[in-house]
Amino acid sequence: MNPIAIAIAIHGGAGTIAPHLLTPSLEKEYLTGLENALKAGYAVLKQNDSSTDAVLAAVMALEDNPLFNAGKGAVFNHIGKHEMDAAIMDGKDLMAGAVCGVSNIKNPVLLAKAIKEQSAHVMLATQGAFEFAKQQGFEVMPDEYFFTEHRYAQWQEIKDTENYQLDHTEKPQNKMGTVGAVALDNLGNLAAATSTGGMTNKKFGRIGDSTVIGAGTYANNETCAISCTGHGELFLRSVVAYDISCLIAYKGLTLQQACDIVVHQKLVKIGGEGGLIAIDKNGNIEMPFNSEGMYRAKIDLAGKMEVKIYK
Ligand code: ASP
Repeated sequence: MNPIAIAIAIHGGAGTIAPHLLTPSLEKEYLTGLENALKAGYAVLKQNDSSTDAVLAAVMALEDNPLFNAGKGAVFNHIGKHEMDAAIMDGKDLMAGAVCGVSNIKNPVLLAKAIKEQSAHVMLATQGAFEFAKQQGFEVMPDEYFFTEHRYAQWQEIKDTENYQLDHTEKPQNKMGTVGAVALDNLGNLAAATSTGGMTNKKFGRIGDSTVIGAGTYANNETCAISCTGHGELFLRSVVAYDISCLIAYKGLTLQQACDIVVHQKLVKIGGEGGLIAIDKNGNIEMPFNSEGMYRAKIDLAGKMEVKIYK
């Protein structure tokens, strides 16, 4: 077994994130949050555990951090609730689990994994997903667990309007979006996971790209693993994650070339602001974004760590 053939990347959302919009102490908190989540995932890989468990550990750490829009810290929807989406996929056998519009579950990504492994289905939604979680012994968290002051303030500003807002475009100082992780383990298996609270003031059961396999999340050992963040409607229409995998599989492009085409050409053309993290079967990592910034971090094949926010 080659002990260095492991690598991981994570993100904590993309959008209008510029240096003058964050205080130095807030910036440090985000960097620390990213680093801790990255290390949680990398520790799993170092123990020779699976890339699936690594992305799970990293995403759960981000879900537990109130700074990020996932799990604790998820945004408020139109009726003042938190409805969360998450997905996880194994590149080895294309097994996938996804949950959308679920409330009161501490770690939606863990529920996505249970759906992948304990149900005959890929995606469960809202009340049904909640019932499944209860059957699986998931702890139900009270609404107060998900309350954070800054998300509440964001919602108060637009709750009586028809607007809904991407977590990181209009009020940049408050903006953290979706979280995600991709990893390659020592057996050459790829995995991806994504988790989000979606958009502030969303209604009618709106679901974005994060939880949709092939749009916001995808993994295939033959090509790559991807987790996206950005304006979900545009990412859905672009089938972003699977498109990158297809460009590698059918056109023979490198990961970097495929990411460039999708993030900097195709998405830009239709106004799809955001970015993604990607890792290929050889452990190459790309973290492209067409927005001002993206919370992101990686540890590459050489064990080198990078934690960044801005361009
Ligand atoms: N893509 C997510 C969604 O549309 C939002 C985000 O990445 O911030 O739900």
